[in-house]
Amino acid sequence: MYDVIIAGGGPAGITAGIYAARARLKTVILEKLMPGGQAAVTDCIENYPGFPEGISGSELMAHMQEQAEEFGCEFETGEVTAVDTEEKTLSTPFQTYRWKSLIIATGADPRQLGVPGEESLTGRGVSFCATCDGALFSGRDVAVVGGGDSAVKEAMFLTKFASTVFVIHRRQELRAEKIIQEKAFANDKIKFIWDSVVTQIAGDQRVNSLQVKNVKTEKVSELPVDGVFVYIGRIPNTALFNVQKDAHGYIITDEDMHTSLQGVFAAGDCRKKTHRQVATAVGDGAAAAMSAESFIAELE
Ligand code: NAP
Repeated sequence: MYDVIIAGGGPAGITAGIYAARARLKTVILEKLMPGGQAAVTDCIENYPGFPEGISGSELMAHMQEQAEEFGCEFETGEVTAVDTEEKTLSTPFQTYRWKSLIIATGADPRQLGVPGEESLTGRGVSFCATCDGALFSGRDVAVVGGGDSAVKEAMFLTKFASTVFVIHRRQELRAEKIIQEKAFANDKIKFIWDSVVTQIAGDQRVNSLQVKNVKTEKVSELPVDGVFVYIGRIPNTALFNVQKDAHGYIITDEDMHTSLQGVFAAGDCRKKTHRQVATAVGDGAAAAMSAESFIAELE
């Protein structure tokens, strides 16, 4: 029996682990892959306080994990496949765990375009992770779909390798932070294709072009590229958790991270909120662990 089980090992989950373990609660973080979450595959994080030069996401997350382990937080690998909120148990393919309190910090996965060619060419030119796959496109032309922080930041990262990076955005104005926009507009390797959506990804063995439709003129054109990186937002990993959610699946909490179930808390990108940053995830994680600590103290 664990005092605190944390599902998800991104910035929210690991911060919750640091706080819970320091409160001398028996704590485990369950993570399906490597700890670190989305932040770990971010090239450079420039807005996390304390690092004026910026820090690579993988380095920041490795430091956070080390800090949690230092205080006795356990880490286990295994995708959560079943959750029983009556019995207070959670299972991975390897083991079933019992909790006194649960913190859901499962984050969100990339949203897909849902166009022909996307699924069959994933891993063969279609990617959802520039940090992982960008180097494969050295000297080639690639496209990024989306206009948010992720799309524009990852487009800039891709200019380290690619000859030209086309950013295809469905409107004429980016959603990304202004400082990120300014850097992208100043980068000669980035070309913007405004008011446009991708309607098909074409290629035989690998991606060789995109069909792009201008939503204002309805004109369809072909854009020859070797790769396409999709950054059109995210879908929360919350399907297994029987707590109150909004229409998009984000978990509804109060400001202290309580969900609709007693003893169950949520933190980070899987939670309904306006801002999704490493800094806000860390704040959520700390608050969730402190609320879990109070809950357990009342139980006892
Ligand atoms: P996001 O902010 O939700 O942006 C998604 C982008 O994709 C928007 O530009 C949206 O267009 C577009 N889009 C959505 N559905 C589409 C579709 N079906 N076809 C074409 N385009 C579509 O997502 P995100 O960029 O992944 O960011 C997620 C969160 O993480 C945000 O809160 C963001 O601020 C944060 N983040 C921050 C940083 C940072 O360094 N500060 C870095 C990465 C992420 P519209 O604009 O027209 O809606």
